[in-house]
Amino acid sequence: MTVRGMDLFARLRSGLSKTREALVSYMQEAAGSGAAIDEVYDQVEEGLVACDVGVRAAGRIVAEVRSRVRTTGMKDAAGIRAVLRTVVRGALKPHEGRLDLPRDLAVIMVVGVNGVGKTTTIAKLAWLLRSQGRKVMLAASDTFRAAAVEQLEVWSGRVGAGIVRHREGGDPAAVAFDAVQAARSRGMDTVIVDTAGRLHTKTNLMEELKKVRRVLAREVEGAPHEVLLVLDSTTGQNALEQAKVFKESVGATGIVLTKLDGTAKGGIIIAIAEETGIPLKFVGVGEGMEDLRDFSADAFAEALL
Ligand code: GDP
Repeated sequence: MTVRGMDLFARLRSGLSKTREALVSYMQEAAGSGAAIDEVYDQVEEGLVACDVGVRAAGRIVAEVRSRVRTTGMKDAAGIRAVLRTVVRGALKPHEGRLDLPRDLAVIMVVGVNGVGKTTTIAKLAWLLRSQGRKVMLAASDTFRAAAVEQLEVWSGRVGAGIVRHREGGDPAAVAFDAVQAARSRGMDTVIVDTAGRLHTKTNLMEELKKVRRVLAREVEGAPHEVLLVLDSTTGQNALEQAKVFKESVGATGIVLTKLDGTAKGGIIIAIAEETGIPLKFVGVGEGMEDLRDFSADAFAEALL
């Protein structure tokens, strides 16, 4: 395992400690009381649901664990836990995704509701792409929130990215358009477009995002090359609902799950992946610009269990 991998494992592990403890105590309680194996499975299923995995996914996971334990014969808590880990890893592996950007002008649109960590994620992403040698321009298309624009401007200085902003209340699509032109004329190869995420005017928001999308598609071939949906892992079922809404209205090519270092129950990632089919690309494990990591099914399963 690389140093970065170990670091991720440690961060995720501490972030998901509550989930892990809950699951482990469910299993130990059941196993220690000499409970019948059926009862142990019931408890494991309950534990998974309590960690936001979702009823359907929890049922399927436990059914698979059951059939594997039957073949391997490892019926103690440690054995069941190991099998559970393997099954969770197997469930997430097909959902692992990576950024897919063209070498020349690449456009990434970042969407998500306010407060999920969108601005911070953009900064982290810009930093990551800068460290890979890309020249990054940010488009402050969340013209609705002056504070968000200012925050993005501060980040752009820190991570070494350019930024295009308009006056407050300006047209978000016009900002995106200008950012693309500015990137071209300054020889930059990556544009990251911040977008609004106000919830109370959902219909307008989705129309606005579609317009930004259309303008980008008109200006750059194949754009947006990525639409990253940022979700706050501490919000459980809300995150799942948001994923469904955004998927339906603007589409998403990848999910960034933030705040996995916090109080997240973590299991929601399984429900999101299975119910939306959107690839899991990154996880946020802190507030600093280095705290963005590729999503890893292996690291996640290890940390959860
Ligand atoms: P936005 O409204 O979606 O743009 O959200 P912000 O980027 O402003 O983030 C909201 C809050 O969440 C800020 O206090 C961030 O520092 C914090 N935050 C964002 N990502 C993470 C993360 O991965 N871990 C933790 N612990 N905090 C985060």
